[in-house]
Amino acid sequence: MNKNSIKDIVLAVTYKCNSRCGFCNIWQKKEDFSCQPSDYKKLPHNLENVNISGGEPFLRDDLLEIIKVVSRQSPKAKITISTNGFLPSKIKETMQRVVRFRKNIGLAVSLDGFGRVHEELRGFPGGYCLAVETIRLLKELGIKDLKIAFTLGDNNINQLKKVYRLSKELGVEFSLAVYHNSAHYFQKEDNQIVNIRKIRRELNWLIEEELKSFSPKRWFRAYFTWALIEFLETNQRVLPDYSGLNSLFIDPTGSIYPSDVWGLEIGYLQRMSKANDWNEFSQRTRDIIISNQSPANWMICTARQAMKKHWFVVFQWILRKKFYFPIKNKHSKKKLSLFLKRISSLF
Ligand code: SF4
Repeated sequence: MNKNSIKDIVLAVTYKCNSRCGFCNIWQKKEDFSCQPSDYKKLPHNLENVNISGGEPFLRDDLLEIIKVVSRQSPKAKITISTNGFLPSKIKETMQRVVRFRKNIGLAVSLDGFGRVHEELRGFPGGYCLAVETIRLLKELGIKDLKIAFTLGDNNINQLKKVYRLSKELGVEFSLAVYHNSAHYFQKEDNQIVNIRKIRRELNWLIEEELKSFSPKRWFRAYFTWALIEFLETNQRVLPDYSGLNSLFIDPTGSIYPSDVWGLEIGYLQRMSKANDWNEFSQRTRDIIISNQSPANWMICTARQAMKKHWFVVFQWILRKKFYFPIKNKHSKKKLSLFLKRISSLF
């Protein structure tokens, strides 16, 4: 029986980075060893999502090889590469070769503000135009699954609407994260978000925009954003954390952690002798995960599986926010509430 419950993996394939972001010190790390492409042959077969991340993954000359191995190893997984987009020519060259063997691949290009704001936050003069150029080149290659990844902090709250609108102009998706701390990954533990009131106002605007659409994916993003506000206000997740049980983070050296913010080392990729070892790994690490406390977090890599598992809670929220609020009549509200209760009793 397959006991392996790992569905999502974030693979940081390098700590090298050409950015100098103020909220992440990965670029300061002296990396002396990285997994070889062949090490990724040990990934589980049944993954649903693989996020190839860094550092800047396109700084690895063998990235193409890594993508080939991951594609072969987890054929059903949705693969997304996170990039700062500061190497448009290299990214285009690599992706031109990738789309020959893998059409359905996604890219998330970081963009935290317009022009100089983005460049100052990322410590990379000229970086804004390069990132936009990267998006344009990827669109030309016919890559459909493209998104702008916006990382929110106190310094760029007023950029959220502008970048969101830019994503619509460019015809790409918009995804959101807030600063988190992590000693083993971001190498930063003093990130803070203070201006919650203003952030709440902007995020409520974003929720309304996403709910106006006809895309269920964007309704789910609206829920994620609402839960993000709850997290910022209370430092608590609205849904449980399945890090280590359904999702993992693997660093460039092959060390395995429950997530990129939870520095509990639970394994080592190179020590897996074959992909089937994950059944044994899942059973062995389950008790360790359950008896330890995950640090508070709300990031898409740790929220995705929770939202899937608790889809009905998410669905109810979407129904309430999208279709319920406009109903002013008390009688209709009661009827809808009864209807929801009846549906929930079916599960
Ligand atoms: S946030 Fe990303 S782009 Fe910025 S330094 Fe860290 S790894 Fe590099």
